[in-house]
Amino acid sequence: MTQTNVLLVKEVCVLALPIAVAAILVFLLDKGTALVIWVIGIEFGLYLLQLYLVLRRSEQSLPVNQSLEAVLTPLARHFVSTLEISRQEASELSVEVGRLKIRAANRKNKMTTLVRDFRDSLSALPDAIIALDRNNRIEWWNKAAGELVGLSGPVDQKKRIEVFFLSAQFREYIAQDDFNDPIEMKAPTYPEKLLSIRITPYGDNQRLFRAEDITLVKQLESVRQDFVANASHELRTPLTVVHGYLETLIDQKVSNPEQVRNAMEQMHQQTTRIKGIVEDMLTLAHLERGETAPKENVDIEDLVLRIRSEAISLSGEKAHAISTNFDPGYFLTWNPEEVHSLFSNLVINAVKYTPPRGEIILDWSGSSNGACFSVQDTGIGIEKSHISRLTERFYRVDVARSRESGGTGLGLAIVKHILGRMGGDLEITSEPGVGSLFICHFPADLIRRSSAQENMSRCHNPVTMSG
Ligand code: ADP
Repeated sequence: MTQTNVLLVKEVCVLALPIAVAAILVFLLDKGTALVIWVIGIEFGLYLLQLYLVLRRSEQSLPVNQSLEAVLTPLARHFVSTLEISRQEASELSVEVGRLKIRAANRKNKMTTLVRDFRDSLSALPDAIIALDRNNRIEWWNKAAGELVGLSGPVDQKKRIEVFFLSAQFREYIAQDDFNDPIEMKAPTYPEKLLSIRITPYGDNQRLFRAEDITLVKQLESVRQDFVANASHELRTPLTVVHGYLETLIDQKVSNPEQVRNAMEQMHQQTTRIKGIVEDMLTLAHLERGETAPKENVDIEDLVLRIRSEAISLSGEKAHAISTNFDPGYFLTWNPEEVHSLFSNLVINAVKYTPPRGEIILDWSGSSNGACFSVQDTGIGIEKSHISRLTERFYRVDVARSRESGGTGLGLAIVKHILGRMGGDLEITSEPGVGSLFICHFPADLIRRSSAQENMSRCHNPVTMSG
């Protein structure tokens, strides 16, 4: 028998028992059917009362106490216990729901933080990033996109990206489906900037627009192409000369020892030129790689005097008057070879471009703000229009004169590079027919002075020239 059946039997017994007793009494005592109706009525009333009590207690979430439980019929007791279990389950469920709510809220917070971090990191990218919907309408963009594409605020949201790139090339590009190759376009807000644009499809037909500023890369590419072209051109001339002499010698077209000697001298001269160009190119390549050469405290007095004697021997018969002027006791903390190359390039130029018996002054002076090394000459001078280009590779005012004097066209490029690495800069002033002044400024953190010479002075003021 099932539990429900047992319950029903019990219930019927409980209800039927008083009625049966009343019926027997009526039968035995012969007191009429009214007694039986009374018993049934009272029983029914009591039954309703207990149901009312149980329901009220369950409504008020009050437990059913023992005294009440004792007077309940089996069905009511079962009802009470089922109610009790349901109530417990409901409270457990509500605790679980509460726990789930907290977990969902935490997860939502985490997702919000993740999305915010993701957007922040996209915003920090130097590339312009724009999220587009399936119709190329703008949904979101980062800071760089604001600057490079000119997106300014909510007014630009939902605008089509084509509104900002008006060229037919861009419209064609975005209309197709093959985005394997990027396209290059001018930035809408800065026409001097070049962008490399790439579209990446994602999600539900959405697109990610990415634009990279490649202005510098393009400039460097063109500088590199110019450099290769210039270097090849520079090397081709002396190589052609050497090649010509060698052919002549091989064909034994010259037998006269004097002519042979002359050919040898020419070849020596040209190979020396090739060697100079290659060495300067290697120096530049080394400087560009940014390798940190070992630093030392370079004694300026020693160096300037050494360079002066090198300049005197280079000047030779031109007999320049080369003088020095320096505050004593200074040291420059840098790689000695680079410092030597920096100073000597300027001094060699002064010797090369100053007519015989001209004057050259090497000057070192320090101050609390740093130090200056200057080379002043009474040479041919430089037209103002050339000055800003002198530090470009292979740039010369007079190519023939530079070659004649053994110049490579790379000396000032090397000077600028070394000074740049030091955090210093080069100042050039010159006047054609009067002379030139090259001043190197060094930052204070590279300068040391022996304690005996702490009495710092200001940079010397060389003869003024127009720049
Ligand atoms: P170069 O090997 O030709 O001297 P640099 O790079 O050292 O190359 O100098 C570039 C050009 O600057 C030179 O060709 C020359 O025209 C000019 N120049 C440099 N120094 C002087 C100077 N002291 N006086 C006049 N012209 C100079």
